[in-house]
Amino acid sequence: MTTQAAAVLDAPPLGTTMRALVKGSAAPGAQIREVPVPQPGPGEILVKVLAASVCGTDVHIERWDPWAQENFGPPPMIFGHEMAGIVVARGPGATRIPLGELIAAETHWVDWTCYQCRTGRAHICQNNRTLGVKVPGAFAQYVVMPEVNAWVSDRLTPEIAALQEPLGNAVHAAFVEEVAGQTALVTGCGPIGLMSIGVLKIAGARSVFATDINPERLAMATQMGANLALDARDDVVARLKAETDGNGVDIVLEMSGSAAALHQGLAAVTNGGRVSLMGTHAVPATLDLSQEVIFKGIRIYGITGRRLWDTWYRTTALLEEGLDISPVITHRLPLGDYAKAFDLVASGHAGKIVLLPQEEA
Ligand SMILES: [Zn+2]
Ligand SMILES: [Zn+2]
Repeated sequence: MTTQAAAVLDAPPLGTTMRALVKGSAAPGAQIREVPVPQPGPGEILVKVLAASVCGTDVHIERWDPWAQENFGPPPMIFGHEMAGIVVARGPGATRIPLGELIAAETHWVDWTCYQCRTGRAHICQNNRTLGVKVPGAFAQYVVMPEVNAWVSDRLTPEIAALQEPLGNAVHAAFVEEVAGQTALVTGCGPIGLMSIGVLKIAGARSVFATDINPERLAMATQMGANLALDARDDVVARLKAETDGNGVDIVLEMSGSAAALHQGLAAVTNGGRVSLMGTHAVPATLDLSQEVIFKGIRIYGITGRRLWDTWYRTTALLEEGLDISPVITHRLPLGDYAKAFDLVASGHAGKIVLLPQEEA
């Protein structure tokens, strides 16, 4: 029996409705609607959502940009995926996680049967369906999910538990190779970039440098432990060479999706270094492969999702060792204030925003 066991009493009776943020139609915007509480089917659990943080993906969906038009839904559908909450009901066969447990979601619903899933690479499942993108999401008072996707997080607060999903992206990007004793550059200090600074520091990186063009984000980078936070429009490469005995950095984590940052990172990485690419590009980037990659003998990794479940174990261990990602959270808002949240994220004047579905707006 856990301390949250009392919450079991909150399991909603059949036929109850809930507040949810719905992408109502194939057009910009979103709406708060009263919809039926979903019921868990075989192997599924019903979770009372206590915290759901806003991701850039959610802004794409709300704004209905070309990516969202191609990948979301179809509408009407609830969106939102970074979440944590209490298990309040279990469908047939869902027996592993007790009622009352605080869980977070691995947001990729993978099939466990394709070539990648059967060879230890389920994070790049050929038939992945993402929570809140292809299946009804977590910007709601309740959400149904496969029990296998739930990650027990009973030693965390709900907001930190919810942030494990994007934090896992940072952990995945950082640990594709050794970190301890190395110098690292993080390009792009959005929430995942900021969290990766904390990850690199606690993992024993020798120095962590960060770039962005937003002074608020650079200040947060310093707060997360960056040894040096640089305006990307300055001569970053010269400065980093000077900071590294003329060598350049061992590790680059590209978190911005900006072509300029990509070129800067490739120029700053030392010969034989490695680059993790996590920021996604709205338009294709062009590289001089010979000069920027081949003759430097560097390794480039495309990073998506979290390795199942290695990344989650490692993320939990880092949080237990004292990794503090709370400075990344700048706003906590009731679900009804979603429009303000999306505007804040789009404006760049925010770190992570946590929506609280159980609070009245
Ligand atoms: Zn996300
Ligand atoms: Zn698969």
